Amino acid sequence: MEFQGRGVSKGVAVGKVRYISQVLDEVTARPIEDVQKELARFESARAVAATQLGELAVAAAAKLGKENSLLFEVYQMMLEDLDYREAVELKVRGGKVCVEYAVSETAKEFSRAFAEMDNEYMQARAADVLDVSRRVIEILLGKDPQKAVFDEPVILAAHDFVPSETAQMERTTTLALVTEGGSANSHTAIFARTMGIPAVIGLESALDESWDGKQCIVDGETGRIVLEPTREQLDEVLEKQRKQTEYARMLNAYRGRETATRSGKKVQLFANIGSVKDAELAMENDAEGVGLFRSEFLYLESKDYPSEETQFEAYRAVAEKLDGRMVVIRTLDIGADKQADYFKLSPEENPALGLRALRICLKRPEVFKTQLRAIYRASAHGKISIMLPMVTSLWEIQAAKKLAREVRAELTEKGLAFDGSVPIGIMIETPAAAVISDILAKEADFFSLGTNDLTQYTLAVDRQNQSLDDFCDPHHEAVLRLIRRTAETAHAAGIWVGICGELGADESMAERFLEMGIDELSVTPPAILPLRKHICEL
Ligand code: PEP
Ligand code: MG
Repeated sequence: MEFQGRGVSKGVAVGKVRYISQVLDEVTARPIEDVQKELARFESARAVAATQLGELAVAAAAKLGKENSLLFEVYQMMLEDLDYREAVELKVRGGKVCVEYAVSETAKEFSRAFAEMDNEYMQARAADVLDVSRRVIEILLGKDPQKAVFDEPVILAAHDFVPSETAQMERTTTLALVTEGGSANSHTAIFARTMGIPAVIGLESALDESWDGKQCIVDGETGRIVLEPTREQLDEVLEKQRKQTEYARMLNAYRGRETATRSGKKVQLFANIGSVKDAELAMENDAEGVGLFRSEFLYLESKDYPSEETQFEAYRAVAEKLDGRMVVIRTLDIGADKQADYFKLSPEENPALGLRALRICLKRPEVFKTQLRAIYRASAHGKISIMLPMVTSLWEIQAAKKLAREVRAELTEKGLAFDGSVPIGIMIETPAAAVISDILAKEADFFSLGTNDLTQYTLAVDRQNQSLDDFCDPHHEAVLRLIRRTAETAHAAGIWVGICGELGADESMAERFLEMGIDELSVTPPAILPLRKHICEL
């Protein structure tokens, strides 16, 4: 069976689908009267789950050998785990809530704790505890699909993925991503491109639970999905994969090379990253630096404001991994589509035009200063720059720089090491900033064009709205003129200008950007070598 979605991250993959239901987020805290009865429901659901896993383990061992049934044992051990069971029980007793909700909350807590552990084996358990808990909840809800457990890399399918889910995905176990919803600029799409995992979105109602366990081909370029493919279709895709591998090998010739056209025009090729893990991807793909480190992942993954220490460790780890290459850390860009509950932001009619990014930081200087302190402290361990998002006016930069000065003074007073000359640049991602970039250049040490938001605000199209994808055109002349203007004003002021929005990776635009004088392109790690090849051949 064939389906057409929207390819948002290139590459083809073949494998089994693992459909992740929304059940963990759908259950609500239904109040209960009879605690004992509720706990008995938990016990019986646990027993059913254990029996299922036991049967699956036997089947897997018979088919694939004993070592391939270990994952089932891990799942069974989780079900037996005393801490896990007590945590569920405590929630049912304490909150007098239904056990489905208690299991869901416990699963999320345990998953977070696993993910934060130093040990890679334990980190990998973060996804397992969610999976086994989903099974228990589905049994409780009577919609038990007898789901399979896969001890092999899979194609993950879901309604959509949120940052806390993608944070736990590994390239080695995730072959591709497939979603019902999402837009080309959604978190899932950006994540997949960063990791170099093929992804197809927008399958809508075609995708459901019935896909679970079926073999599937995902083509992230064409958006084509083949469920239960024929032999010929499989051969075709294997041939495509062979060509991809060949291409990847050929790209190796571009490692360690300068990015310059044949006539000698140079550009810096940097990476966009969203986590400490991504810093490794940047290095693997031979990035010349990090042009956009989206620091918000620290805030989105945590249940409360991340401490200065947590942030310092993350920034330092990235700076050290980059081994002397520049790392541009973008300060908190939360709000709009990226929400963290503990910020307690009031609901807004137009969140994209609301309290977000730098606006929050200026309204909550303590939150901002904690981040700045962490960044400055990390600057003693590598080459760091600070970048402010969502700037529209000169005073915003001045206010942010004043807070940065205060932070430097505090650190000096405490005798803590930092680099006093960390450049402070800004994102040009609002039309206002592009239009007055000549004025902003007086206060900014560099510019980086955020073409995703610049397109959204210039063309008045919500970048998250799937039905507007046809109108969301970053090649629109209005956007290109703002980019050109920004390049001109930057150079007139003697500062560098880069592009860190998705448009920067568009090979068909590279020649034009070089001609405009763009000094740096910051792209997802897997796009670096292909783009370098393209530019070197210009
Ligand atoms: C942008 O807006 O182009 C950008 C790079 O930032 P983000 O996609 O994180 O909003
Ligand atoms: Mg942006």
